[in-house]
Amino acid sequence: MKISIRQVERDYKALMERVQTLPDYQIDLTNRVNCYSCVNKKCGHITKTKDVDAGTTPMYFWCEMCNSRAVSSFYNDLAPDQKPSYEWYRPDFQRFKKVRGNQGIYNHLISGGLEYRQIIVDGKANI
Ligand SMILES: [Zn+2]
Repeated sequence: MKISIRQVERDYKALMERVQTLPDYQIDLTNRVNCYSCVNKKCGHITKTKDVDAGTTPMYFWCEMCNSRAVSSFYNDLAPDQKPSYEWYRPDFQRFKKVRGNQGIYNHLISGGLEYRQIIVDGKANI
């Protein structure tokens, strides 16, 4: 069942208030990087991400090299010399409206979850 636009507006407003007031969201985002280690022993690549908004990110991602599962380092920078290739951000209201038919994604976002996008520098992926 799709959530009404009115409900999305209320949920989004409440989330924005929490983001602006709750201590969990008042964090320093400078160098807020996370490393996802590939579970494939033959690969072992680290997919590095950074948070540009305060919110929750998943424990598992995928390896950008071999597509295997990759596990979070819980914000330990395991590869200080490597640049992040993905960033986690809080989508805007339009996105919340768009995903209101998908309960899983909607609940993730409304409870402070972030989405990811590839970091593009000078028109190229940052891998
Ligand atoms: Zn891999």
